[in-house]
Amino acid sequence: MKILDGKYVSQKVRDSIKQEILEIKEKEGKVPGLAVIQAGDNLASKIYVNSKIKQCAEVGIESKNFIMSADVSEKELLDKIEELNNDDTIDGILVQLPLPDHIDTPKVIEAIEIGKDVDGFKPENLGKVVLGDETALISCTPAGILRLFEEYNIDLEGKDVVVIGRSNIVGKPMTALLINEGATVTVCNSKTKNISEKTKTADVIIVAVGKANFLTGDMIKKDAVIIDVGINRDQDNKICGDVDYESVKETVGFITPVPGGVGPMTIAMLLNNTLKAFKNGKKI
Ligand code: NAP
Repeated sequence: MKILDGKYVSQKVRDSIKQEILEIKEKEGKVPGLAVIQAGDNLASKIYVNSKIKQCAEVGIESKNFIMSADVSEKELLDKIEELNNDDTIDGILVQLPLPDHIDTPKVIEAIEIGKDVDGFKPENLGKVVLGDETALISCTPAGILRLFEEYNIDLEGKDVVVIGRSNIVGKPMTALLINEGATVTVCNSKTKNISEKTKTADVIIVAVGKANFLTGDMIKKDAVIIDVGINRDQDNKICGDVDYESVKETVGFITPVPGGVGPMTIAMLLNNTLKAFKNGKKI
């Protein structure tokens, strides 16, 4: 069993972003800027936002955090986004989800300018991903997974890949990226019959379901590559993924641990998208 070490690879990505930003700063006297909007006091959101802001500072991205109360109106949020769309010092806008229930989330995401959509959530960016457009701001989790495959020389061409989960932020963009890499992709959801029949023959399995111990050793073939996207809590309240690690470890070829696999790659790709948005904006 080999580990796809997201902690190590994400550090490598961050080092390279930091170097590039240093060079841009020396040459142009400018650095990329990221605005993070938070509404309400969801504890998990606060932790994620703090981590993103800290990592921005480490690589030299200037971040601005806008904290709004849980009863913020949709108009106030939309006005803030409009202001940031027109702010030249801001290259990326991130709205931390979930938003409070009274806010129409798709409407808020839709308000972000395409070139500043560093989460890659807008329909236009997903469309660009499907078409293989190089300027796409790719949803961070699938982009991070692709970077892991690259780092460990896992060639996807001709491979049978099963993606479990069809969300707009993980399963769907992941599927498009895999298709563009030449993989043969099967996408499963909660209505899929006999999932294990599909996973048993897969070279690569990407699990993004959100259920602890969902994928077990009897569902995989020898030397399969497993990407565990899930973030759950086990009986002892410890973070765990969607894979029953103990039962797959004798059979699996490569696997991402949880924590330390996909999670750190996701944040690294947010930083990468912010740099990319800056460069797409032709400011250098
Ligand atoms: P989501 O929007 O809740 O989607 C879950 C998907 O799993 C849905 O497509 C659902 O199918 C499918 N599903 C649920 N039960 C299933 C079953 N029994 N068999 C097959 N498919 C089933 O979730 P998400 O946003 O993609 O996130 C998935 C997990 O990844 C969560 O644990 C989340 O916390 C984690 N995550 C981690 C990162 C990271 O950086 N590590 C990033 C994003 C998400 P239906 O569509 O039919 O309902």
